[in-house]
Amino acid sequence: MRSNPISSSIDFDKDGIQHGFLTLPYSRNDSAYGSVMIPITQFKRGDGPTALITGANHGDEYEGPIALFNFVGRTDISDIHGRIIVIPAINYPAFTVGSRVSPIDNVNLNRTFPGRPNGTVTEVIADYLIQTLVPLADFVLDIHSGGKTLDFLPFAGCHRLEDKELERRTEAATDAFQAPYKVMMFDIDAENMFDTQVENMGKVFVTTELGGGGTTTPQTVGIAKRGVDNFLIHCGIMDGVVSGKKEGSIALDMPDPSCYIFCQHPGLIEPCVSLGDTVVVGDLMAKIHSTDRTSSVAPIEYKATHSGIVIARQVPSIAKMGDCLYVIGEIVEV
Ligand code: ZN
Repeated sequence: MRSNPISSSIDFDKDGIQHGFLTLPYSRNDSAYGSVMIPITQFKRGDGPTALITGANHGDEYEGPIALFNFVGRTDISDIHGRIIVIPAINYPAFTVGSRVSPIDNVNLNRTFPGRPNGTVTEVIADYLIQTLVPLADFVLDIHSGGKTLDFLPFAGCHRLEDKELERRTEAATDAFQAPYKVMMFDIDAENMFDTQVENMGKVFVTTELGGGGTTTPQTVGIAKRGVDNFLIHCGIMDGVVSGKKEGSIALDMPDPSCYIFCQHPGLIEPCVSLGDTVVVGDLMAKIHSTDRTSSVAPIEYKATHSGIVIARQVPSIAKMGDCLYVIGEIVEV
């Protein structure tokens, strides 16, 4: 099997703080012998579990990169027991241009796992994660937000797993992140996601959606920073006490595809609910106005297909066929 062309300047076995790069040769018009250089930091002190933490899997999601570029600035590792591998912007080519998918090959990193060692730049990054970095890790945290086209209530999420013991450990790590909401997620195309591949490798995998719209707020950045610390404390890699809301996160479930509302009538969205609103099946969510002409034809009404809390909404006010207009999470009674 062909080996992956990415080289790391980090010695993953070495104790201490190392800042470096994952370097992927990328010959192109403006740089014949050029490379993609992805910043990476490792903190290691003695034996203990390993956490791999990544941001900007999608390049237009910023809570992860801000929290992680902060985190890598620490100079003291006396409170660390084990190893923390931090990559603030794993899809670096997409991150540098503020794009969801890579500008090099137009590939969505989080739909291309497990990747290919001899594929396009994005496929090679995916393969390196799966073949080299994930095997080193016991715990993986991949920090997402909604990007330019979605806005989310801030939540940490995980999935139902066949391995119930792994599901229990994963849910506990998701709780520990202490986002305002915790979601048992249902993904519409899970097969080639980082999440699925890492879960299949038997690792604890936690993801997030912390906001969106292609920007951040002090609140969502604060949730990400606190969440990274909490995750590492929970994993036993960092000293400290998990902090957050005393009553913990509000638990939500996405049991089936009816949690998603997709656009079937392109046009101008008039929203009738906000993020965080409670809805029941049949409640009016939005009206979509045809923009081809003025007329007396009423706008198309979109109704709730599930009862619960509005956890995501589309950001652009012009909807295209197939756009995800809303996501609803079912409230879990505890
Ligand atoms: Zn994302």
